[in-house]
Amino acid sequence: MTSGTETLSFAGTGVVAGTAYAPVVWIRPRPAVPSAARTIAEDARPAEYERFVQAADAVADRLAHRAEAASGPAAEVLRATSGMVCDRGWRKAVRKNVRGGADAEYSTAQATEKFVNMFIAAGGLMAERTTDLKDIRDRVIAELRGEPEPGLPSIEGEALLFADDLSPADTAALDTAHFKGLVTELGGPTSHTAIIARQLNLPCIVAAGTEIHDVAAGTAVMIDGGIGTVTVNPDADEARRQVAESVARAEKVAAWRGPAQTKDGHRVQLLANVQDGNAARLAAQTQAEGIGLYRTEMSFLSATEEPSVDDQAALYRSVFTAFPSSKVVVRTLDAGSDKPIAFANMQAEENPALGVRGLRIARQNQALLTRQLDAIAKAAEGRGTDAPTWVMAPMVATAKEAEWFADLCRERGLTAGAMIEVPAAALMADKIMPHLDFVSIGTNDLTQYTMAADRLSSHLAYLTDPWQPAVLRLIQHTCMVGRDTQTAVGVCGEAAADPLLACVLTGLGVDSLSAASTAIAGVGTRLSETTIEQCEKAAEAALDASGAVAAREAVRRMLVEN
Ligand code: PEP
Ligand code: MG
Repeated sequence: MTSGTETLSFAGTGVVAGTAYAPVVWIRPRPAVPSAARTIAEDARPAEYERFVQAADAVADRLAHRAEAASGPAAEVLRATSGMVCDRGWRKAVRKNVRGGADAEYSTAQATEKFVNMFIAAGGLMAERTTDLKDIRDRVIAELRGEPEPGLPSIEGEALLFADDLSPADTAALDTAHFKGLVTELGGPTSHTAIIARQLNLPCIVAAGTEIHDVAAGTAVMIDGGIGTVTVNPDADEARRQVAESVARAEKVAAWRGPAQTKDGHRVQLLANVQDGNAARLAAQTQAEGIGLYRTEMSFLSATEEPSVDDQAALYRSVFTAFPSSKVVVRTLDAGSDKPIAFANMQAEENPALGVRGLRIARQNQALLTRQLDAIAKAAEGRGTDAPTWVMAPMVATAKEAEWFADLCRERGLTAGAMIEVPAAALMADKIMPHLDFVSIGTNDLTQYTMAADRLSSHLAYLTDPWQPAVLRLIQHTCMVGRDTQTAVGVCGEAAADPLLACVLTGLGVDSLSAASTAIAGVGTRLSETTIEQCEKAAEAALDASGAVAAREAVRRMLVEN
């Protein structure tokens, strides 16, 4: 346990940039989950269930109350969590256990376990939601026992919050006047915790590992959410200097206005990644010039049946209307792997990331794709020439796939493109691009497949780093072919959200960058401070580096320290 003065550091995955320095506060412990039931006499079981209902209602009310005081995604998460406490399926499972003779606490734990196992079996993003389920279980059990609600402690002054895995409800309730940063042992960049931390603009590191448990409450710690480092007992003056620098940078970023260009006027289109109408409306309030990646599959993760063409069109229209006179790039269903979709009818596979996912599903079920293209064309009806609708396919690997997809798009008057996220597609760009109007490089999967490293594995984060020169070389090749064939080349993976990497991508010849809308101003600011020649030199240095860490460090030295 570290609490003295020894300086040490470790790293996790930085998900919200910014430096913070404060004493550590640990989240209030969760109640022990009962592993055995108390037996309830038959005639007392209705009252026992009523005891559960009252506790669950109290928890739901408290969360709903907090939702009213919050806004944006934080309010949505609190409302959704409150809704989960009222979920009929979950309550029914508790009632069944109580009717079988178990006490309310044990029945709650058992019912939750059943749902957690279901979510884990569904995998991917659903599995990340198990934190939400365990959170409501713990709140209800604490309420049943008359214990204080687990979660955020109330503090005076400033603190960094440390937790195993923060519940979405706790993250949403964080008061940023006191909590200056967040570090979790578990979690991932796509978890609710990360999403809300981004909204709160709270420096945040997830997947920091078990080492965080060595840091005692009250220890002074500095975190850098940009690069994911946690420094225990840093030099206090140096830490304060870095925080001041980070605050000044944040002010500069907040003041940045688009459209984006380098210091010497080289234009780069900055676009937003969205998953639904709500996210599109939020993106429209930023400096995003349009949408560079609309992940359509995200709306269907819990759908059991394919929505009709009309229903799909209504959904897509809700995104288009947020950007009535801008480009919107719609990606067709990227089902499979970490995003299983029931109606896409996939069979269980040994290696789903290498299996029938993305466009490959459509080759076995073309009607699923053509109905989606019909819905996109329908939703796009009436959009003017200043609001082009581009459609791209995920997981294209061959020229034949690109040609087949492009024909289906053009039959419907849609502009056709493909994601470059399979290394084969980057290497065969000269054969693929002639069939297409544009391509967009998906660096998340391109990195996963180039480095043969699962993008969800926290153990392989050093490989699944888009700064890997091997990935950058594939991007360089793609841009070169894009120039030769006059095909627009964008990037829509997480790499586009990293301001320094965005400069490298610009230097490689990428003409649009699409990222989470909260990242756009940081990228735009950095581009405005850098000339195109510096971008090109940075790209050369990164391509020539021996690894991801060396590439990042070389570019940081060139663009930040000079
Ligand atoms: C990517 O792979 O980089 C990408 C943008 O798509 P997704 O993250 O949805 O797989
Ligand atoms: Mg992808």
